[in-house]
Amino acid sequence: MTITLPPLPYPTGALEPHISRSTIEHHYGQHHAAYVARTNELLAKSKSADRSLLEIMRASHISGENALFNVAAQAWNHEFYWNSMHPDSGGLPSGAIAALIDKDFGNYQSFASELRMSAMGQFGSGWVWVVLNGARLDIVRSANADNPIVYGLVPLLTIDVWEHAYYLDYQHQRARYLTDVIEHLLNWDFANSNIKAADNPTVARSAGRNTTRDQRSTAMAG
Ligand code: MN
Repeated sequence: MTITLPPLPYPTGALEPHISRSTIEHHYGQHHAAYVARTNELLAKSKSADRSLLEIMRASHISGENALFNVAAQAWNHEFYWNSMHPDSGGLPSGAIAALIDKDFGNYQSFASELRMSAMGQFGSGWVWVVLNGARLDIVRSANADNPIVYGLVPLLTIDVWEHAYYLDYQHQRARYLTDVIEHLLNWDFANSNIKAADNPTVARSAGRNTTRDQRSTAMAG
C-alpha cells in the first residue's frame, strides 16, 4: 500500500494575510508532499507496510525504524497542522476546549501566553502541541518529527515551528508568526472534534497504553 497526500482543507491563499499563498504552496506542495513520497519509498522495504499512516508511525517508533518514523510522523504532523488552522476560526475558543482551558490554565490569556512561550522555547525545528494528558489539558513541544501520540498523549492542535513554516512571511521572527496563528487561525472546532474522539474509551485506552509520565517528560519538554 501507499499513503497519499491528503487535500488541503482550504485553498492555498485562504490563510492570508497571516500565512501567504506562497508559504502554503511551498510548505504543502513541496515539504509535505516530499514527506509523503519518502514515506512511500521506505514503506516499499519496511515491515510496517499495509497499515494506516498512524499505525506506520506508531510501529516504526516501537521498532526503531527511525528513518521511516521521521518521514511518516512528518506526513502525519503536517496533515494535523493544516487541520489545526482555519480561515474562519481564530478568536476566543468555545465548547469543550474552552472549558478545559479555563479548568487547567485559568483563562484563555494564560493559555495563549503559555502556548506561545512553549513554541518560542523549542530550539531549532519542531512542533508545539495542545494535548490531552489523561483528563488534563497540557501544552508540550517536540523536536524535529516527534509526535505526542507515541508518548500516550492525545493531540488536539499543533503549530509547526520549523523555519519553513514562517520564513517566507516573517523571516526569523517566529514570535510574530505564533501570535498571528494563535490569535487568528487556531481551529477550535477541530480541537473539539479531537476531544470528542478521545471520549471514546477504545481510543483513550490505546492512546494511553505503555506510557508513563517519566517517558513523556524525558522525551518531550512541556
Ligand atoms: Mn512543516
